[in-house]
Amino acid sequence: MAFVLNIKDLPEDVSRQEFVSTPEELALDYEGIEVVGDVCAFGDVTKSNDQVIFRGEFSAPVKITCSRCAEEFERKLKSELVFVLTMVLENELQDLEEETLEDFYFIPEGTQEFDFSEHIREQLIVALEMKPLCREECRGICPDCGKNLNIEECICSEEKIDERWLPLKDLLDRS
Ligand SMILES: [Zn+2]
Ligand SMILES: [Zn+2]
Repeated sequence: MAFVLNIKDLPEDVSRQEFVSTPEELALDYEGIEVVGDVCAFGDVTKSNDQVIFRGEFSAPVKITCSRCAEEFERKLKSELVFVLTMVLENELQDLEEETLEDFYFIPEGTQEFDFSEHIREQLIVALEMKPLCREECRGICPDCGKNLNIEECICSEEKIDERWLPLKDLLDRS
C-alpha cells in the first residue's frame, strides 16, 4: 500500500513525507493512459488537532495517445497534490458527506491511515483531460488520406488548391 498516509504517527507539526508506488499498485484502469513506471508523491504535511493538510506534488511516467496524430508517446506527468483531511465524530460523517469537495475529505476521528491512491488516480485523469499532444507543433493526420503528416507529406492540400485556382488558370490560359 504505497499511497497511505500514516496519520497516527504524524508529528503535530509540519513534516516532509514521500511516497512511491508501482503502476501495479496504483492499478489505474483508464482507457488511453498507461502508467509505465514508478509514481512518486511528496509533500509537506501539517497536522493540527483535527486536521491534516497535504501540500505537494506527484509525478508519473505515462504512455498516452496524441490527440492530434494518434501516436503513442511517453511523458512524465507532474501535477500538484493538495488535500485536506478533517477528522469528525462518526455520527457527523453522514451529514458532512454531501459537503465533501474534491480535495476535502471528512474521516472518522481516530482514523489511523488514509489511502489517497484514489485521489492520485483522479488527479492523473484530470491532468490528461487537457488534450495531450506528442509535441507542440504536431501536424496531425491528413483528414483526406489519413497519413501521419509528422512522418510523411501528402499532396491532398496541394490538389485542393489546384482545384480552387482552376477557373483562374483557365482565364489565364485563354488570354
Ligand atoms: Zn501528435
Ligand atoms: Zn493527405
